Amino acid sequence: MPKTASKRAPQSKRVYLFHEGNKDQKDLLGGKGANLAEMTNLGLPVPPGFIITTRVCNEYLRLGKLPQGLMEDIERALRHVEKQAGKRFGDPRNPLLVSVRSGAKFSMPGMMDTVLNLGLNDDTLKALIALTGTERFAYDAYRRFIMMFSDIVLDLDRHHFEKMLERKKQELGVRLDVEVPAAALKNLVAEYKRFFRRRMGYDFPADPMKQLQMAIEAVFRSWNGKKAVDYRNFERIPHDLGTAVNVQTMVFGNMGEDSGTGVAFTRDVATGEKVIYGEYLMNAQGEDVVAGVRTPIKIAELEKQNPNIYKQFVSIAKRIERHYRDAMDIEFTIERGTLYILQCRVGKRTAAAAVKIAVEMVKEKLITRQEAVLRPDASQISQLLLPRFDPAAKDQAEKEGRLLAKGLNASPGSAMGVAVFDADKAEQLGSAGQRVILVRPETTPDDVHGMLVAKGILTARGGATSHAAVVARGLGLPCVSGCDTLRVDPEHGVCAILDLSPIREGDEISIDGTTGEVFRGPIRTIEPRFEAERDLQTLLTWADRAARLEVWANADYPRDAERARGFGARGIGLCRTEHMFMEQERLPVVQKMILAETADERRRYLDQLLPFQRSDFEGIFRAMDGLPVVIRLIDPPLHEFLPDHEELHAELVETRTKLGKEKSARSAKVKRLEKMLAAVESMREANPMLGLRGCRLGIVMPEIIEMQTRAIMEAACESKKAGVDVHVKIMIPLVGHVNELTFVRDRLQPVAKQVQKEQGVSIDYKFGTMIEIPRAALTAGEIGKVAEFFSFGTNDLTQTTFGFSRDDAEGKFLLRYVEDKILPVNPFQTLDRAGVGRLVALAVEEGRKANPKLEVGICGEHGGDPESIHFCHETGLDYVSCSPFRVPVARLAAAQAALAEKQAAFRDV
Ligand code: PEP
Ligand code: MG
Repeated sequence: MPKTASKRAPQSKRVYLFHEGNKDQKDLLGGKGANLAEMTNLGLPVPPGFIITTRVCNEYLRLGKLPQGLMEDIERALRHVEKQAGKRFGDPRNPLLVSVRSGAKFSMPGMMDTVLNLGLNDDTLKALIALTGTERFAYDAYRRFIMMFSDIVLDLDRHHFEKMLERKKQELGVRLDVEVPAAALKNLVAEYKRFFRRRMGYDFPADPMKQLQMAIEAVFRSWNGKKAVDYRNFERIPHDLGTAVNVQTMVFGNMGEDSGTGVAFTRDVATGEKVIYGEYLMNAQGEDVVAGVRTPIKIAELEKQNPNIYKQFVSIAKRIERHYRDAMDIEFTIERGTLYILQCRVGKRTAAAAVKIAVEMVKEKLITRQEAVLRPDASQISQLLLPRFDPAAKDQAEKEGRLLAKGLNASPGSAMGVAVFDADKAEQLGSAGQRVILVRPETTPDDVHGMLVAKGILTARGGATSHAAVVARGLGLPCVSGCDTLRVDPEHGVCAILDLSPIREGDEISIDGTTGEVFRGPIRTIEPRFEAERDLQTLLTWADRAARLEVWANADYPRDAERARGFGARGIGLCRTEHMFMEQERLPVVQKMILAETADERRRYLDQLLPFQRSDFEGIFRAMDGLPVVIRLIDPPLHEFLPDHEELHAELVETRTKLGKEKSARSAKVKRLEKMLAAVESMREANPMLGLRGCRLGIVMPEIIEMQTRAIMEAACESKKAGVDVHVKIMIPLVGHVNELTFVRDRLQPVAKQVQKEQGVSIDYKFGTMIEIPRAALTAGEIGKVAEFFSFGTNDLTQTTFGFSRDDAEGKFLLRYVEDKILPVNPFQTLDRAGVGRLVALAVEEGRKANPKLEVGICGEHGGDPESIHFCHETGLDYVSCSPFRVPVARLAAAQAALAEKQAAFRDV
């Protein structure tokens, strides 16, 4: 029996002094707390403090009050901190002041609450004045504390207090807060307290211990605040993690011109360059930098202003980076010439920076290639392939005098859209599908819902570490911040720009987050160049070595196939042949073919289509020389090729009315329209997606798929004769019963053989099927005996498993489902593991049992979604196939899935 009854067992330890924790305890201590602990143990100048665990937060939220005995634990921790700081909490001679901050496992910038300067009251204030000798500073700290505490802990909105300050400034005829003298601040404190009493019916809490308890409870409650919940929903952070609370000795960056505060990254988080990148403000508190109220100075200036501190900071930054082996984001404060480190965390970065930093850290031998592959967020990689302004169009815009302003290039990429000055309005228009640029004086966490749907963000104030910049980078949105020639007036829906004509709400603007430029009107964008992305290429080469899954692409035309190969696709997993029928010169022939009354007539038109198809296929085979190409036979309902029924009907009525009864009877146009209308009517279906499509079409009108098979095989033979290495897979869609597949294959096999015989060439070809109907998945054991490959059409499989119409669900109710948490995500974007995934897994297992050589892939949209790719890896698929632009994303995700599996296996040993 341990003697230390007062010492709790580790599981129930609720309060950790900084030196008692470490960086691997993020679950328990939150990200901020765990890193404060780690830095303390590294011997860095961290102001002393303690952490209340996330477990306590959950307990508090469950009980509705702090658990019993917690305040005693806190008092004990406080005594230690007092000893380290050489000050006492509430001591009227030498008071300890603390900050109380939230800190969850995952960073949620600005989403939860912080109270600074806690411990101040009329008595400790006097000591602060005496100790610092600056009355102004002390009253300002007190004023800020009353405002922050009232706002955060008691919901007494800060704008009341800000208004009083504004009034005071007007009375004094000054513009800046720092110009308000001590006496006025003293009056303001009294005014704040009177206001508090009037509104709350009691005096502002003076007991520091009471203040502390109330602030801790408020931070815990903020975990379930609306902003925080919205953010977690968007970032898919679980709601049951809870937040830790960090209580830390205050240090002041606003004690005069020898004090300051800043945020810096150990590398440039916009470009990835190896330079310290950040900003600071002298005589300011941290919130001034982060909130973007004043535009801060570049960190390089600190070298000139205070070389000693700069040197010290650089050396600490290097040390932190080496220790964490990652680019870090560090918050610091200088209090009267002494440097303190207040926080460090892994720095959020753009996709370009993530890739560059990962590759360079391998070269610097800081991390392994595998670690580098695991670092960037796969879905972020598509940012590198973001469209950017066409330089000619941009030049032209400049010549036309459309360049309005230049701000900070806070998050790369280009965007155009209509200017909207309010987050609610942005949310409303953006959700309705309009391209919106959110323009704000500065953003705060209250604007996040608007930022989520905007195409770009523009702010008048704030630096590269302001809220707007950090959130935009995280979301992969272009952002121009700190554009200080703008005067944004959300109330009147207008933004003045020096003497230029203003931007009004609804005006089109374009922003370039890579250069910081803002233009009036739209600017044409161009595709990015993958070939120029050297670091990405390197990283993807390493990724390919780690991955087991291959990445193929969905490509319908030779140009798509070439692009896909350029992006590193190892095959074509889906060529939708019907798209080729839609081209202008072909469509009339296709329509005649569909309307043919006899099979012979249909064949005549098909003969005209055959050369088109053959040349398309030749182009694809050439582009994919040596790699597999899956060609799917015609799939959609035929009416998709025919004119719209309503439009046709209207045209017929109109023509008849115009011509009159007699002329109509003789008119060729009327006859043609009537024939077309009758054909369209005869093909009308109540549920076309579940109607005559896929293999059913091939069974009813086999001439079409016979022509397609001939075109494929002739193209393959011609290509082979021309020296191209062809591997073709003919895919039969929408099979639900094995007999459908057998019927079609038996009809097509002779065609394939015949063509080879005619051409005197032997081709490597296979017949396989899509699995996109639940019945096919459930009977994969039978289908696997006939098919040589399976490709999961998870678009249709999701549609048919859920019974959700692909064309209607997303617009009608699916997004609501996600919002209301009926579904965790949109299942057309991320594969539903529990339902659709289960069918896939079953089909893979039974299909392979029936045919051990069966090749298995996926070609639905999910093939480009990182989370679904993880599933495909775990389920043992051979490849994923996605749109060409997603290929780099998929290559990285495939590697990350393989490496994650390896890590998990290692952990289990
Ligand atoms: C699918 O259903 O997943 C698929 C790839 O086919 P389509 O989207 O053309 O129906
Ligand atoms: Mg399909």
